[in-house]
Amino acid sequence: MAATEVVQSRRIVTEIPGPKSRAIQKRRSSAVAQGVGSVLPVYVERAGGGIVEDIDGNSLIDFGSGIAVTNVGNADPRVVERAAEQLARFTHTCFMVNPYEAYVDVCEALNRVTPGDHEKRSILLNSGAEAVENAVKIARSATGRQAVVVFDHAYHGRTNLTMGLTAKNMPYKHGFGPFAGEIHRMPMAYAYRWPTGPDNCGPEAAAAAIDQIVKQVGTENVAAMVIEPIQGEGGFIEPAPGFLPALVEFCRANGIVFVADEVQTGFARTGDMFACDHEGIVPDLITTAKGIAGGLPLAAVTGRAELMDAVHGGGLGGTYGGNPAACAAALAALEAIESDDLTGRAREIGELMLDRLNAFADKFDVVGDVRGRGAMVAIELVKDGKEPNPEAVAQVLKHCHARGLILLSAGTYGNVIRMLPPLVIGDELLREGLDILEEALAGL
Ligand SMILES: *Cc1c(COP(=O)(O)O)cnc(C)c1O
Repeated sequence: MAATEVVQSRRIVTEIPGPKSRAIQKRRSSAVAQGVGSVLPVYVERAGGGIVEDIDGNSLIDFGSGIAVTNVGNADPRVVERAAEQLARFTHTCFMVNPYEAYVDVCEALNRVTPGDHEKRSILLNSGAEAVENAVKIARSATGRQAVVVFDHAYHGRTNLTMGLTAKNMPYKHGFGPFAGEIHRMPMAYAYRWPTGPDNCGPEAAAAAIDQIVKQVGTENVAAMVIEPIQGEGGFIEPAPGFLPALVEFCRANGIVFVADEVQTGFARTGDMFACDHEGIVPDLITTAKGIAGGLPLAAVTGRAELMDAVHGGGLGGTYGGNPAACAAALAALEAIESDDLTGRAREIGELMLDRLNAFADKFDVVGDVRGRGAMVAIELVKDGKEPNPEAVAQVLKHCHARGLILLSAGTYGNVIRMLPPLVIGDELLREGLDILEEALAGL
């Protein structure tokens, strides 16, 4: 259906945003709350492959995937067909009232594809934030402990508990407190900015985090450690080697539930089905959302049966959690990931992109660091050594947007440009997008 109709080439026929988009943007400002932003307010007509078409007839190259959601491509025909078939039969019953098979199918699939071959259970929810909240609920219930350990640069969502877990004040937390108690923040193994240099960053950061947990929180008080195996909004910070394994070992030795928040990194994005697979990490609980259902809202917590089943009957749930159309879409998306070898494709995309980005780093002083795995890569822009350079990011984004490349920023200092193309994008569009980025960097 829609996806096959989208011509896979960039085409700019108006200013960006065009007149039709600008007209809606004007209506929007008196209808939609100002607090909701849009990176690039071109209003969308259709999307598929590596292209987003707007209502003015422009075709833009997609380096964002709606923030790592359309991993299998936008409106993938298999996802659309499966969800449409489900919608035509019934739209909702509430799994907590009258259950349906697709929910069980998705849980079985998640139990199979997530790291570790232990006995698992899953629960389905609506959003990544809701998944993280539920992981904390489950960990507290199972351990009888309260404290939650999180990390610098973390992003876990916008609900009250997950705002508290999130590191960055502006825009996520500012003015929205008070936040939940018993949240303790530890240093992150951020190799590029580690004071003693990148080489020993992993072990040193792990030792520092563990020391703080022991001295300041008390291991016996900690219910859960929640961490993104590659940080997303925080700037695509890939923890230095050794950091995650040391933390997992510490958690295991001390009865702390290790929660991998793979909401952004999951479902083939990083070149593995999950980012944890890279270092062979097996989390006790894993939270997923974004890439799970080809664009439909769905999220999950998957984890060790004895933890998941520790919660009393009726303690978990939600009206819409595991909506039948979203479940049908998720089953189709997972099949697409596996049958089309999208993990392999993500690795190819990563190679192509990192090659070019490393060349940019050699050529342009402003590119301080290049990092990421698979189709989740970023450049960090700096000035005067390692000073964050968010102004350059704003300029680069402006240039790229005007030329029809959808590109996002990230990072605690707003100085990271992140790239998250759909895994079905073609090499030509990837190269063209990188050409536009190079042009922007050259023009700084
Ligand atoms: C996006 C994100 C969330 C929040 O997901 P929502 O669906 O927006 O609630 C949580 N954790 C991580 C790592 C994310 O990237």
